[in-house]
Amino acid sequence: MALINEHFLKLQDSYLFADIARKVNVFKATHPKERVISLGIGDVTQPLAPAVLEAMHKAVDELGGRETFRGYGPDQGYSFLTDAIIRNDFASRGITIEPGEVFVSDGAKSDTGNIGDIIGYDSSIGVTDPVYPVYIDTNVMAGRAGTLNKGEWSNVTYIPCTEENNFTPALPSRRIDILYLCYPNNPTGTTLSKEELEKWVDYALENDVIIMYDAAYEAYIRNPAIPHSIYEIKGAKKVAIEFRSFSKTAGFTGVRCGYTIVPKELNGFTPDGQRISLNRLWNRRQATKFNGVSYITQRGAEAVYSPEGKEQIRASVDYYMTNARIMREGLLACGLKVYGGEDAPYIWLKTPNHIHSWKFFEKLLYETCIVGTPGAGFGPSGEGYLRLTAFGDRGDTLEAMDRIRQWLA
Ligand code: PLP
Repeated sequence: MALINEHFLKLQDSYLFADIARKVNVFKATHPKERVISLGIGDVTQPLAPAVLEAMHKAVDELGGRETFRGYGPDQGYSFLTDAIIRNDFASRGITIEPGEVFVSDGAKSDTGNIGDIIGYDSSIGVTDPVYPVYIDTNVMAGRAGTLNKGEWSNVTYIPCTEENNFTPALPSRRIDILYLCYPNNPTGTTLSKEELEKWVDYALENDVIIMYDAAYEAYIRNPAIPHSIYEIKGAKKVAIEFRSFSKTAGFTGVRCGYTIVPKELNGFTPDGQRISLNRLWNRRQATKFNGVSYITQRGAEAVYSPEGKEQIRASVDYYMTNARIMREGLLACGLKVYGGEDAPYIWLKTPNHIHSWKFFEKLLYETCIVGTPGAGFGPSGEGYLRLTAFGDRGDTLEAMDRIRQWLA
């Protein structure tokens, strides 16, 4: 008899966005004449940059020639891409990353989920709350999360980030081994200052904690004082893994490419206290379970760093950030409380009159035909908030703000 991994049975019924999609489909079926504007799921809407397209077309042609054909690629990614990553994302900020520390992948969702393969099953987990649900669900699947009581997993430490503490997580009172940090943050759209990030790196160094640092939205940082990489902080290479993605930076949500930095000086421990390089374990894990990102995709990702690519990508990030500004200003003018949206493509809206997140989601859908994401879906501290994304079309964004203005007038 084949036994299943019973931890999967502990997972809540469905993934947040599947719940939302179901509710929106019911609304559409019962209101066929209404035009729904989705500011819910965080998917991009701008097409790929011409420089990326050109590089991918060229790569396709190369695969058709006997001399230029490529089969399986190097385990950690082609050096044309890893070198471009190191030069542009790290060396330019004074950070030294070696080629062997870069692992090209199909994106940050896979990597933030799969990284648990190299972590002991008894490790305790800490997350900022609200949180990107993948960090929690993948730990539930691995059996690390414990049991669910009133929306919280018993072996997960939730570090609240709300307007009361200005979305700045406080050091946990309970011991944790693995800490997930995501900045700029999904869902709150807030960032951590250099001093705050230093506080976390120092805490990790003192307590042998590993920080899983998700910087998927790094390209949206506008304020020059905000760190783009955790490795801007002294000592971080001893304690942190950093996840990056081309999804939101360059519209690769469908193309699929990202990368993860696992520094060579980062260690985990065996039960008898022996230090083991996590870089070695992750290399082994990837070489066994992952066969790389297509040559075409990696050439496309390389083009993100070409002079034309950089300019084109900056233009699409600017487009989304203009949406974010329109939304922030529009919602503030309606007397609503909003956070984020200045260094991130997400607006974190406080629901008026303490309405519950799901109730507010339904009111917004049924009374304005706008789809947001209920904050409660991201964890207990998300209750009383709604997330709106700036990834929409400009016309839709403007119309959504008009609808909300009229609705609240
Ligand atoms: N990390 C965060 C915080 C995200 O919000 C997302 C996507 O929404 C991802 C990772 C997934 O990125 P990718 O498309 O690279 O898998």
